[in-house]
Amino acid sequence: MTYGILNQTIGIIGGGQLGKMMLLEAKKMGFYAVILDPTFHCPAHSLADEHIVASFDDEVAIRKLADRVDVITYEFEHIGVEVLKELEEEGHIIYPTPKSLAIIQNKYKQKELLKKKRIPVPDFIYVSSVEDMKEAGKLFGYPFILKSCRGGYDGKGNMVVNSPEELLFAFESLGGETEELMAEEFVPFTKEISVLACRGIDGETAVYPVGENIHQNNILIKTMVPAQISKTLTSRAMNLANRVMKVFEGVGMFCVEMFVTEDKKLLVNEVAPRPHNSGHYSIEGCVTSQFEQHIRAITGIPLGDTSLIQPTVMRNILGEELGAGEPEICGVKEALSIPGVFLHIYGKEKTSPRRKMGHITAVAKTLEEAIQKVDTAAEFIKIYPVNYK
Ligand code: ADP
Repeated sequence: MTYGILNQTIGIIGGGQLGKMMLLEAKKMGFYAVILDPTFHCPAHSLADEHIVASFDDEVAIRKLADRVDVITYEFEHIGVEVLKELEEEGHIIYPTPKSLAIIQNKYKQKELLKKKRIPVPDFIYVSSVEDMKEAGKLFGYPFILKSCRGGYDGKGNMVVNSPEELLFAFESLGGETEELMAEEFVPFTKEISVLACRGIDGETAVYPVGENIHQNNILIKTMVPAQISKTLTSRAMNLANRVMKVFEGVGMFCVEMFVTEDKKLLVNEVAPRPHNSGHYSIEGCVTSQFEQHIRAITGIPLGDTSLIQPTVMRNILGEELGAGEPEICGVKEALSIPGVFLHIYGKEKTSPRRKMGHITAVAKTLEEAIQKVDTAAEFIKIYPVNYK
């Protein structure tokens, strides 16, 4: 199935903001692209050459996508992996591989494999009962963190357990009777950082500069690059990301989130097998963005230069806490009057409190200046639901 000028058709499962930003690069390079997403007016819709409107667990639709394209990729990890495995066995190309996806989409399996490969991670145990949680309390002390093994994002699926009195409530709140859970030591980190890395089909890897992340209520708010950590720690973090890439059969972009502890240890918190929110800075900040890199990797094009052009800061634009509705964007002219500020609006049909609606990037000669620019721009940009009172 080849229509694009580069003679390859790309299929993307998911038409949200990550799918949209992948498509912007794929279309720039002349690829023909088909997306699968249940929402007709999803962010990627207007950029795709074809859109299969179907639910992510619709196996017939996923098979239809596979038949239309040369390579399948995805913008989120919570996909039924069985059908992808079957498709791969039948000869379809899927990157990153369903095998690595199956491990990564289960937080326990992911950490188990990382630990086996001697990648430093927080201590953790599998939890199938309140008794197991008591054991976690004994092993890790309080607080510790209870996590759903599957389906979590932006901290949904995580609970901090502060005392033995909270064990039962936390277990029941995360559906412990039916859901797979794990308990993890609470890491009193000094910083959260992430390192994006990419591997091409021929095994070539490219690692990006380290980003320093600020979260609020488990949602990423800001990524600052370069991270304000020592040179030694920076190269240790980049090496660690490279080692993590070797653990998974990674073709495409991966993001490795890490904690920096007080004694300057690095612990891997989570690996995502896709471009990541904390890598959006690379669009304006790096020679090759994480989205272009992903498209290059999965189509067998040599990887691009990952160098940082100048200090860059990314800030997420979240829906105002005023209810749900059609989005109205305010402050665009004011924000974009600041030199070095760039605006990305994802084009979601609806805004709701703290929903990721877009992001702002600022580039400058110094990191301080970039932070100041992005913060000023963020003061202007507000996304309100239309008709809010
Ligand atoms: P999600 O998959 O929903 O993004 P994570 O497991 O990455 O969830 O956790 C979200 C946030 O919760 C992290 O960015 C970090 O701030 C905090 N967190 C997660 N695990 C731990 C831990 N073991 N110790 C301390 N904080 C943690």
